[in-house]
Amino acid sequence: MHSEMQRIFDKVVARDPDQPEFQQACLEVLETLGPAIDAHPEYIPIVERLCEPERIIQFRVPWVDDGGGQHVNRGFRIQYNGAIGPYKGGLRFHPTVNQSVLKFLAFEQIFKNSLTGLPMGGGKGGSDFDPKGKSDSEVMRFCQSFMMELWRHIGHNLDVPAGDIGVGGREIGYLFGMYKKLRNDFEAGVLTGKGMSFGGSLIRPEATGYGLVYFAREMLATKGMSFEGATVSISGSGNVAQFACEKVLDLGGKPVTMSDSSGWIHDPAGIDREKLAWVMDLKNNRRGRISEYADHFDGVTYTKSQPDPSVNGLWSVKVDVALPCATQNELNAAEAQSLVDGGCSAVAEGANMPCTPEAVEVFQNNGLLFAPGKASNAGGVATSGLEMSQNSLRLNWSRQEVDEKLENIMVNIHKNAFETADRFGHPGNYVIGANIAGFLKIAEAMLAQGVL
Ligand code: NDP
Repeated sequence: MHSEMQRIFDKVVARDPDQPEFQQACLEVLETLGPAIDAHPEYIPIVERLCEPERIIQFRVPWVDDGGGQHVNRGFRIQYNGAIGPYKGGLRFHPTVNQSVLKFLAFEQIFKNSLTGLPMGGGKGGSDFDPKGKSDSEVMRFCQSFMMELWRHIGHNLDVPAGDIGVGGREIGYLFGMYKKLRNDFEAGVLTGKGMSFGGSLIRPEATGYGLVYFAREMLATKGMSFEGATVSISGSGNVAQFACEKVLDLGGKPVTMSDSSGWIHDPAGIDREKLAWVMDLKNNRRGRISEYADHFDGVTYTKSQPDPSVNGLWSVKVDVALPCATQNELNAAEAQSLVDGGCSAVAEGANMPCTPEAVEVFQNNGLLFAPGKASNAGGVATSGLEMSQNSLRLNWSRQEVDEKLENIMVNIHKNAFETADRFGHPGNYVIGANIAGFLKIAEAMLAQGVL
């Protein structure tokens, strides 16, 4: 690693020794910035500033369950970097949420948003609340309580949250309703991922999964490959996984796996459109477990999550392309080796940081195409940017218009990452290409705006 980047990283570790996810995200970027820093030594203090969020808001979220019991969760909003636009990034509701996880996500978001080419800064937020097993009215009361504090910190020109794990259309609806009531103002652009009847954008639900597959398609094309006839493993069964699966089917591929936090299914015959529609109903309406898929369809195996996920895990299935779409650090070096041994050609991250650094090393050492999430899953936030544009214009674009804009953005992100990697002497290395391309735009803006 460049000696100045090492010095900055040592400071990150000394400051926040108890934040492993944040350290991992910083390290992954800092160790790739050397060539950019050699070309622009004036950016060294910018990198140091980038490793510290502009603002962290933490608050209490009390709520009452259906039986009258009282609970308290912790809410957060990290306004990480506003150099190129309003803070923008999702809200995550999951028991594992803490400051380290949200700082890592917000840090990644800065570079991702920069890569989209749209004017959006980086932010992230959420709560350690677990929506699983809660009734609709409990989720509503929680969202209302969460917004009773958050509303004073956000705004369409200030900070625009969206969904993430555990925050889908239902939660965004409750959050938006409470914001509108508190502000006494219909400020459509304050949240994205809204329902179509109150300012949402067509294709926003599909955008991260579709964008991921558009990016992977571009990456495969550089080696003369395509999704046509390719076997594909997908992890997760939430928003990103579902629409990645749909787009793989559109492009002639065969998805064969899905998972949730309890276990994973392998369907060698392929998850076709009818089966995918069943999964969408299971996960989005009935809120069931992926194990039910194996009970419902023939020839499917279900394996429970193991304490050691590398044992007989989802990634041991032989595939041509792997799309990890569940959560951070879900794919380790042993699992990466299984994919390599099974003849996999390409891995594109749908989730944020799903592959451990050791796993990424295995892919790169074995010549696989590897797309880091901050490039390949940027379609979601890009389409959130398009939702904000439509809200400002008070117009609704058609499904086809939004999809074309999304596709163009993903093609451009791929081109930018690919060409930047080449320009800085690491052809084919999308990690270096995406990090440097995202960084240069931010650094230029921060330098121009002075020491803030
Ligand atoms: P969802 O909540 O819709 O789905 C998450 C999926 O991952 C579920 O199947 C969930 O299973 C599974 N999962 C969550 N935590 C774990 C865990 N600890 N171990 C195993 N499985 C787990 O979230 P999204 O699909 O929106 O998000 C998935 C990933 O994509 C996240 O990393 C997110 O940050 C990233 N992302 C999402 C974007 C979006 O637009 N939604 C944009 C860019 C990135 P279970 O139901 O059992 O918890």
